[in-house]
Amino acid sequence: MKTPGRLAGALTALVLLVSPGIPAQAAAAPKKPGKPKTIVALTFDDGDATHAAAARMLEKHGMRGTFYVNSGTVGFDGKLTERQLTALARAGHEIGGHTLTHVRLNELLPAEQRAQICDDRRALMEMGHRVTTLAYPFGALNADAKKTAEFCGYNAARGVTGLKHWNCSACPGAESLPPADRWAVRAPSSVRDDTLVRHMQQQVVNAEKAGGGLVPLIFHMVCDDCGTYSTSPERLEEFLGWLEKRRSRGTVVRTMDQAIGGKSRPLPAE
Ligand SMILES: [Zn+2]
Repeated sequence: MKTPGRLAGALTALVLLVSPGIPAQAAAAPKKPGKPKTIVALTFDDGDATHAAAARMLEKHGMRGTFYVNSGTVGFDGKLTERQLTALARAGHEIGGHTLTHVRLNELLPAEQRAQICDDRRALMEMGHRVTTLAYPFGALNADAKKTAEFCGYNAARGVTGLKHWNCSACPGAESLPPADRWAVRAPSSVRDDTLVRHMQQQVVNAEKAGGGLVPLIFHMVCDDCGTYSTSPERLEEFLGWLEKRRSRGTVVRTMDQAIGGKSRPLPAE
């Protein structure tokens, strides 16, 4: 019989007409929800006063950063004030610990490390901040410093080396999530005045090529010709504009706290 066949054909055509996307979707490669993304953490060390303007640059691109502050120098000449830290936190940035007075922890006894790390975290928490990640000054750490970071209630601590960079071509492009060692989160070397925008971009591309993970970028002062450990606002702006567009490739900016996750743990009893 011709009629039912024709009817069936017409119905099939109708189904294809009203839902043209179904066959194409079914044929497409399955989505990979578990595929690791590249997470870029923009970290700024030392509580420099120029970070207030840098934070606003990030905000214009819909990004939030992590600001590692030495509580013992807050409000000093050239440093962020307590009020500025509050404004940063209110805008969604992370305030992290960087020891009381920017010491080399590997040269201290554990009791001295506790004073530098726990008292710093306590001071920042008393200012009203959620303080869950630490950055070791100079990246100077040892087994005791890692234990002390954990003892003081942190969730993770960042070093300054270990990811692919001009000084470590064999290093991996990204830190894993969770980090291989959360008490020594790896990073490429600090951005310096001779670090070009394409070098910063390369750090992100290295992480993307590694299949994703965490890449903490380390900035210090953000100003023109103001020292070896600085970058200009123009370079930072150009980099942020480029970085914002990497979202289409699954590359996102998160704070260290967001990347690491977990609750804010209490301080040890005094
Ligand atoms: Zn520092």
